[in-house]
Amino acid sequence: MARNILFSAPDHLWDDYKDALTQAFEQAGLRADLSRDHDPAVVDYIIYAPNAALTDFTPFTRCKAVLSLWAGVETIVTNDTLSQPLARLVDPGLTQGMVEWVVGHTLRHHLGMDTHIHGQDGIWRDHVPPLARDRPVTILGLGALGAACGQALANLGFPVTGWSRGVKTVEGITCLHGSAGLNQALTDAEILILLLPLTPLTHDLINAERIAHLANGGFVINPGRGALIDDGALRAALDSGRIAHATLDVFRHEPLPADHPFWAHPKVTVTPHIASQTRPSSAANVIAQNIARCENGQPMKNLVNRKRGY
Ligand code: NDP
Repeated sequence: MARNILFSAPDHLWDDYKDALTQAFEQAGLRADLSRDHDPAVVDYIIYAPNAALTDFTPFTRCKAVLSLWAGVETIVTNDTLSQPLARLVDPGLTQGMVEWVVGHTLRHHLGMDTHIHGQDGIWRDHVPPLARDRPVTILGLGALGAACGQALANLGFPVTGWSRGVKTVEGITCLHGSAGLNQALTDAEILILLLPLTPLTHDLINAERIAHLANGGFVINPGRGALIDDGALRAALDSGRIAHATLDVFRHEPLPADHPFWAHPKVTVTPHIASQTRPSSAANVIAQNIARCENGQPMKNLVNRKRGY
């Protein structure tokens, strides 16, 4: 019997996903009826974007699982109408995109590229940057994205320290964990990269006290979530020169309002939540394979721990 799969996401995503998903279901050996308007009572699975119109999951009485099109699920985990298992997206395309964005922005700051891109003023500035091996980098969050970014930077020679909630081992990275490991991870870091999920425990994690542990004149790169950083503390640190520059991809309110001070701040680079996007061609396969696992009685991958919030 075909499984009824509801695609619940903003309209423009339907065109991107419908063929990719149909093909992926076939490849995964699934008979699937994919639609945007199934009767809730007959839906077996929901493929879901957190910015979709659907917010009440109560009528989906036979739904076996909700599969998020996004990696970050902070807006879904607080939805009390959702009682079904929730899988977040871990997708090779998403990971590769994040690695490229993080490596690019890290190298920009490490090499001091701005001096030459914006400083074509006839002055021969022959300051040579240190080698990567002399530039300590810290990544908060050692999950699918943080670990991959950390390893890419370690492969370039950066000494990389990573921080997670539980104990982890990631080749090439000095792994610290828990509240005891945080200050150690931050101390003397010259480039800080945030790839944590937003949860009650990570909200405003980067405050004035924690910024004070970083190396003087260090850099902050945030592709995680805006509210991981206390914006006021960051602005004070930028204004005093304690932090040299912040590259921010995510914000408390998105789109970032046009009159927000970050846009005009000379030491802030704003990118509009484009660090990495879900790629339909690879995400469709990940989702189809996860549904197939459920259908075959195997545990689904990347299930969200609702209590932890990620
Ligand atoms: P994962 O769930 O795979 O990894 C999360 C990591 O954060 C884990 O290492 C986890 O520790 C750690 N963590 C969570 N809470 C704490 C805590 N309280 N203290 C210490 N460590 C903690 O997530 P992903 O790597 O897939 O994604 C990370 C985030 O990136 C997403 O939640 C999303 O917000 C953001 N993102 C941004 C995108 C963009 O375009 N800007 C695109 C995609 C994602 P442990 O390993 O012990 O569980």
